[in-house]
Amino acid sequence: MSNVRVRFPPSPTGYCHVGTARMALLNFLFAKKNGGTIVFRIEDTDKERSTKEFEEDLIESISWLGLSWDEFYRQSERTAIYVNEIETLISQDKAYVSEEESKKEPGKKVHVVRLRNPGEKITFQDVVRGEISFDTTELGDFAIARAINDPLYHLTVVVDDTQMNITHVIRGEEHISNTPRQILIQKALGYERPVYAHYPLFLGADKSKLSKRKGDVAVKEYRETGFLPEAMLNYIGTLGWTPPSGKEFFSLDEMIAEFDLKDLHKSGAVFDLEKLRWFNRHYLTGLSPTAFKDMIMPEFQKGIEARNISWNPASAEKLMGLVSERISVLEDLRIQISDGEYDYFFADPALDVSLVSEKKSSREDTRKHLEKIVEMLSEVSDFSESSIKDSVWPYASDVGRGAVLWPLRYSLSGREKSPDPFFIAARIGKDATLRRISTAIQNLAV
Ligand code: GLU
Repeated sequence: MSNVRVRFPPSPTGYCHVGTARMALLNFLFAKKNGGTIVFRIEDTDKERSTKEFEEDLIESISWLGLSWDEFYRQSERTAIYVNEIETLISQDKAYVSEEESKKEPGKKVHVVRLRNPGEKITFQDVVRGEISFDTTELGDFAIARAINDPLYHLTVVVDDTQMNITHVIRGEEHISNTPRQILIQKALGYERPVYAHYPLFLGADKSKLSKRKGDVAVKEYRETGFLPEAMLNYIGTLGWTPPSGKEFFSLDEMIAEFDLKDLHKSGAVFDLEKLRWFNRHYLTGLSPTAFKDMIMPEFQKGIEARNISWNPASAEKLMGLVSERISVLEDLRIQISDGEYDYFFADPALDVSLVSEKKSSREDTRKHLEKIVEMLSEVSDFSESSIKDSVWPYASDVGRGAVLWPLRYSLSGREKSPDPFFIAARIGKDATLRRISTAIQNLAV
């Protein structure tokens, strides 16, 4: 066992976003690679913005991704520890209580605790960024607690990192500017300094801060959209990190094996939803047929029933191959179903007579072709895709494929776009096929 100890310290003030998930993943990879320990710390000192719902979402999202931790703490349960350290600082005159007017409630007096800032230059080595220096005079005597028993973030982080024996602080670069304050508090308390690694943030396609519109949505939402945890992990893990092998697909264990902080990029990586979808498609098509079916069928049923079409599991099962070709994520299927793209596999379509014939064909010719098809298909007994094709193809090639296959396909699907008619006919079966073609013939006769 090494003594490496890292922390995953989200604030439960919002749902777990991709950036939060990445913080958890990078810390997880580093700890596992080094046989270390992972501390999950809920940083809920901001009582107004922290909620149980967000805390539960963080735990749920991180667990869904397949990440785990060894120790768990809540800062709200550790106030006595912070107060003790604040009192030590005050007793050593390294901090003092300052009576000030409350910013939130003007007129009210508060007793803020401020660190006596010696105003020195602070320099630290960052594993990702190299040497970073700050002149801290401008920070002044900054606040470390709103009141003696109400510690602020900088103080709690420093106390916890030390008391929890954290060796490596791996976090996003938005915390670089917090580091000098935290180092000043460490020094005042006589603590040792952990190793710092500040990685660049994910960016939107326009290189600006990642926002909801650009894919920075809660992990929960990705989960509900139907993304697989393996795909999320693979994408979030490899975005902004160049693994030595140059591979693109990684399981969690494979990422652990190759992970090294020094391979994290120094500039921000663009979060690309299309790329995430591409990863998802990779994992989706890699599922076993049974796992794929188990995932798809309930959604399929829900979607078809929502269209007031009677559900038929046997019909749906025949479409698994088609579905797998047509989706990158489950949500794609939901949209396709609600757009009616699968209706005709379950129910006879309504036909628009003006669309039955191919543009260049007359109604009369189309009717003749369809009648011929009925005659030919009546003879096909096994009604497999290939037998259907073998039966119709020579005739279609002879008199014009478009003129024959368009009306056939349209009669079966009622849609201008669909898979080819042989595919549809084989899936809906002989009775439905002949019935739908006859309906089209009747429509043409009117
Ligand atoms: N609680 C902080 C956050 O959610 C993290 C603090 C840290 O990593 O030091 O951004």
